[in-house]
Amino acid sequence: QTPVITIDGPTASGKGTIAHRVAQVLGWSVLDSGALYRLSALACLDRGVDTADEAAVAAVARELDVQFKGEHVLLEGRDVAARIRDEEVGNLASAIAPQMPLRNALLARQRAFRCGPGLVADGRDMGTVVFPDAPLKIFLEADVAARAERRCKQLKEKGFSANLANLMKDMEARDHRDRTRSVAPLCPALDANTIDSSTLSIDETVSAVLDLWSR
Ligand code: C5P
Repeated sequence: QTPVITIDGPTASGKGTIAHRVAQVLGWSVLDSGALYRLSALACLDRGVDTADEAAVAAVARELDVQFKGEHVLLEGRDVAARIRDEEVGNLASAIAPQMPLRNALLARQRAFRCGPGLVADGRDMGTVVFPDAPLKIFLEADVAARAERRCKQLKEKGFSANLANLMKDMEARDHRDRTRSVAPLCPALDANTIDSSTLSIDETVSAVLDLWSR
């Protein structure tokens, strides 16, 4: 069976960047599971679906017509890569993420990415729920100050204004919500390797993951 490396962790821990770099080195593909939650949220917004209606949200997720092509994310043929990064879409994704019918609807979709030479899957529950048999599970941590600084830099590079203190406050709130929610709370799998990237560069973090894989 296609091997999977799962990379779970809190927001802005660098999961996405590390997942892509590791996949590039190994010649594997990537599953950005957060994008599926964001796409579900966006499709609900566009169609005016009542997001309190859990069955309706799950139906939208089940029927999503989505294609990942490099940097492009096509929803019904339209590139929505930038739109799914909107704050509004991210917040709605995080609000609907605890809905069990939605999570179940996305389960088969996520597992379908497991094909070809290998898969690096990044998210919150990749090692605990979606790929419990993954041969390597990473839990990527970084202290909240380091994560807020990274996000701040990222936003400024994109020409947005950003306030470090506010970002840190928002991140702490979101972390608390993710870790204490009753459905799929963010926590390391029992057999996960925790890497704290607070003081590591991207290259050092990628090396740490590849070292664990080659053991
Ligand atoms: O990782 P990203 O910020 O793109 O994820 C968007 C939202 O989707 C998160 O706030 C989280 O609540 C949810 N999510 C999840 N399970 C995953 C990936 C994302 O609940 N595997």
